[in-house]
Parts: sequence; structure tokens; C-alpha cells
Amino acid sequence: MCTSSDIINDSKKIVIKIGSNVLSDDNGNVNKVALKNIIEQVNELINQGKQIIIVSSGAGICGVGAINKWSRRGDINYKQALCSIGQVELMMAYKEYFAEFDIHVGQMLLTREDFGDHTRNLNIRNALFTLVDEGVVPIINENDCVSVEEIKIGDNDTLGALTASLWNADLLIILSDIDGVFDKNPKDHEDAKLITIVSDIDKLLNEIECCGKSSFGTGGIVTKIGAAKKVNEYGIPMLLLNGKKRDIIKNVAENLECGTVFFKV
Ligand code: GLU
Repeated sequence: MCTSSDIINDSKKIVIKIGSNVLSDDNGNVNKVALKNIIEQVNELINQGKQIIIVSSGAGICGVGAINKWSRRGDINYKQALCSIGQVELMMAYKEYFAEFDIHVGQMLLTREDFGDHTRNLNIRNALFTLVDEGVVPIINENDCVSVEEIKIGDNDTLGALTASLWNADLLIILSDIDGVFDKNPKDHEDAKLITIVSDIDKLLNEIECCGKSSFGTGGIVTKIGAAKKVNEYGIPMLLLNGKKRDIIKNVAENLECGTVFFKV
């Protein structure tokens, strides 16, 4: 019996964060198969009466795929240009694949400042509630073109957590390229065990070798644990799943697989 399954089934308002590695292939193009499969699962969740907001990474990497240059440019203006180009690729893919289920999508590009300002907060909430109430799936990303290093939210795990708290979600799901949190780095240790339930994040941080140089997988476990801490403070559980696995949300809901679920008891 897996707690994650109950948590998905009992949640009505779910924020799903999709990482760049899940969304793009090795050449930086949108991974159509993976994205279509996630959208099929979102459609099923909506048909079960759930409300979904997506927080999507991938603008930068899809910009590289689209234009096939500048991938090594470190200058911020080129990074911003890539995000600007890739965001269009990403939204075109979302629009096309959701249209197969007659679902409209709405884009929201947000910054740290937006979350720190009371009026903007209310505006975001109103827009989100309206979109969701009308059956539209909001797709959120950071507004990378106006967010320079110093003022960036920086990673979409945190953006997912901020969105989940702002919307009063019942659950934040993070789709990454790792199966969850392990007691040891699974890349180096064959006997690494998946930790399926985390109810005390501080204790977890003392027990696993996640900080310092090693993080499990490319996504970076530290920002994911940080996101879990943020939402758990508001009583919102967070589920970390491997979005590269086909039907992962469905399979966890049906108790066929487990990721790592974080919740405060
Ligand atoms: N906003 C960035 C992008 O779309 C992603 C940030 C992240 O991966 O966390 O490329």
C-alpha cells in the first residue's frame, strides 16, 4: 500500500511541475512522446473532476533545439533570447496536444516580484481561478526574459511551490528524471533504497547524502526538497515522481508505483 496513491486520489487541486529533462529530448527539441503522455494523464485527471495547473520548464533547452546555436553562450542576453524562442516552441506543443482533448491552455509568465507584491498576487490568483474554473489549463513558467540572475526565482521547483501555495493546491507533483529521493546516490550505489515517505524533512537531510557536491540526478534534489519544505508548511503534500516513466501519475494513483511523497504529519 502506497500513501502516494491515496494522496493523488484525495486531491482535487493539483499543480504539476514538469522539468526540462522530462520535456526535451537530447537535441533540445520537445519530447513529443513524453509530453503527449503527460497530457493524456492530465486529461484523465480532469475527467475525474480534478483541477490542474502546469508549471513547465523547458524554454531554454527548447530554444537551443529550435535555433541550433548559442547553446554555449553564457551571456544573459543570449540565455534570455533562447528562453524567448523556446517558450513559443513549448506553448505550441502544449496547445496542439491539449487540443486533442478539446482543452484550451493559457500561458502565464511570472517573476519573483509578482509573488512578492500583494496586488500582483491577487491578480495572479484571479487569473488562475478564472482559467481553471472555465476548464482552461494554465501553463506557468518564469518570465526568463525579465528575470536576471539577481532577481530570479531561478528554478521551477520553487516556482511550483509558490504557485501551489498561492492557489491553495491540495498537492504539488514534481515530474523529474529521478524516481524520488534515495538513501544513497543510486548512480553510485546499487543498493540505494527509494524513500517513499518523508514526514520530517530536517531528519531526512541528516540521513541522506544529498547536499554538498552530489545531488541525485541532474534536476538537483536540493531545490526539490526546498520546494517540499515550502508547500508542507502550508499543509500541502509534495510528490516527486519520474516523469520520464510512461503513465507515472496514473500508475502511482493505481498503486502500481511509488515516488517519494513529502508531507507533514
Ligand atoms: N524557466 C527555465 C526554462 O524554462 C527553467 C528553470 C528550471 O528548469 O527550473 O528554461
